[in-house]
Amino acid sequence: MNADTLTLNKKNGHKLNGFTHEDIGDDHLYTGLETPMKLDAFKLSDTEKKQRIALLFEEIMDVMGLDLTDDSLKGTPERVAKMYIDEIFSGLNPANKPKIALFDNKYQYNQMLVEKNISFYSNCEHHFVPIIGKAHVAYISSGKVIGLSKLNRIVQYYAKRPQVQERLTNQIAEDLKRILGTDDVAVIIDAKHLCVSSRGIKDETSATVTSYYGGKFNTPSKIAELQNYIKD
Ligand SMILES: [Zn+2]
Repeated sequence: MNADTLTLNKKNGHKLNGFTHEDIGDDHLYTGLETPMKLDAFKLSDTEKKQRIALLFEEIMDVMGLDLTDDSLKGTPERVAKMYIDEIFSGLNPANKPKIALFDNKYQYNQMLVEKNISFYSNCEHHFVPIIGKAHVAYISSGKVIGLSKLNRIVQYYAKRPQVQERLTNQIAEDLKRILGTDDVAVIIDAKHLCVSSRGIKDETSATVTSYYGGKFNTPSKIAELQNYIKD
């Protein structure tokens, strides 16, 4: 990488979605919900991205003084690149979004449906270390129902991005509202952040809880009912 490219990258690093902080001003809500992506985020193919990440990760390892001719280390840059694109950050690419089919609510079930304890692994976008947690997702049908495994898949899709827990919570909730055609959606996430437990403050017991209560869920009685279902 030459000096010009480095300067350019540094400049771009001060922008969100191509906007400077001055451009964004007080309009934090929208940029808060969307994962900040470059306009040309998908200019490179997945194969090209993996090749480039492998080269760059090799450089990080080299700078740290690791011997890349060692049999145990030499495959690591390619493994990390493949893992980033195909697995842990695959949710950045809309092409990997789960296909969702809805069904008519034949049983006329009109109470809340709760899918609880959906395990997920994500990564903190500030440190790139894991966030490990459980999501509880609930909705009240407006006439359509969704396959239960799809609730799980929606959680996994948004988890497989560099994330902050508040955004993960809201992205799942907003997508469910859109898919189900109702505001009556709730999402609760209880997660451990390894950037808090394994480094920094090194608190191994704390966990972070975030919630979204939309439509009919945003009442004390519905919140109490939901919390009753998800308590162990
Ligand atoms: Zn972090």
